[in-house]
Amino acid sequence: MVAAAGFLFPVFYDGIFAIPLDLKDDMVCVGYNRQPLQAKVKALKKKIQIEKNLIINEKCNSGIMRALGNSILPGKAGILVDPVVVSRLNEPRQEFSIAHELFHIKLNDAVTINLLAAAVTLVAAIALTILFPHLPFFSVTMQWTPLLVGFVAQGAFSKFCEKRADLLALSVCSEDAKNNAYKLFEGLRVLHKQHREATNVSILVSLWRRITITPDGDYRLGFAHPSFSERVRYLKPQAAAA
Ligand SMILES: [Zn+2]
Repeated sequence: MVAAAGFLFPVFYDGIFAIPLDLKDDMVCVGYNRQPLQAKVKALKKKIQIEKNLIINEKCNSGIMRALGNSILPGKAGILVDPVVVSRLNEPRQEFSIAHELFHIKLNDAVTINLLAAAVTLVAAIALTILFPHLPFFSVTMQWTPLLVGFVAQGAFSKFCEKRADLLALSVCSEDAKNNAYKLFEGLRVLHKQHREATNVSILVSLWRRITITPDGDYRLGFAHPSFSERVRYLKPQAAAA
């Protein structure tokens, strides 16, 4: 029960309360022109038909771009961006990345992923009680198995949602963006491969990279996203078709 409620927390945090403290539209990084990004978000929001006002929340050097909120629950929605990351992407790759994040909002992925994880956790807990009635309620098996099952379900469904957002993003993107989408992930794969093979780092860092990154440059512990190689595999044919 407690574990299932744990998965529900992000639903409310991301939805009804909508991160009121964090989600501001006024965090401009020094020397960064936000107009082009704002214009892209506005144009894609219209194309994807998101009714809510979208906020762009900038966090310098956070190294991420991700969707915040959803379109079904009341509360704010928007995207969290690192202007440094954005400035490293060419225009078509920016377009694809924004469209991807906007589809997470449009399809309420944050809500459904966590609701599903909570439901699976609850079902696993009930199933355990029925199948093993003699297990004490506070035993390690009873407490951790449902949570583990919930995490696996969350990971699998999250990967499905990521792929869906990738493919839907292509459906609203320009031809240029379609041709660039797979190159974005191919570039990341090559970068991580180089990171793994770098010799100018300490033995511990090198060891950690070898544990967490495959020889091909994919994350071994990629829990919520398809690997870079997999994303290249399904995005590349779309470019060829464009
Ligand atoms: Zn995503």
